[in-house]
Amino acid sequence: MSVAIDPRLCQGCGGCVEVCPGGILGLSPDGKSAVALYPNDCWGCAACLKECSRGAASLSLSPAMGGRGAKMTAFWEGGELFFKVEFLGGDSVSVKVDSGDPEDY
Ligand code: SF4
Ligand code: SF4
Repeated sequence: MSVAIDPRLCQGCGGCVEVCPGGILGLSPDGKSAVALYPNDCWGCAACLKECSRGAASLSLSPAMGGRGAKMTAFWEGGELFFKVEFLGGDSVSVKVDSGDPEDY
């Protein structure tokens, strides 16, 4: 699992840096963008994806976990959170995140 920040979309709000439990992310020296300081140490909790309202944070879904290089981002629509997976061939799929009680199953 590897995290990346797209500097074209990032506005440097720092939200992802604050929520990352592993200190994987930081701000660039000029403070204009987040950067992945230790991208290969990311364990893919997706907290940064959920925090970023601009879709600038992404996870690379490695072949080892069946993702074959697909890229996952998150977005909000109508008050609901979705994960979007974009495959190398250009196809994509979006999945709504179940925001119900995690203990209720
Ligand atoms: S939350 Fe998104 S916009 Fe804010 S610093 Fe992180 S990647 Fe950039
Ligand atoms: S996915 Fe989790 S561990 Fe990885 S950079 Fe984002 S918040 Fe940190």
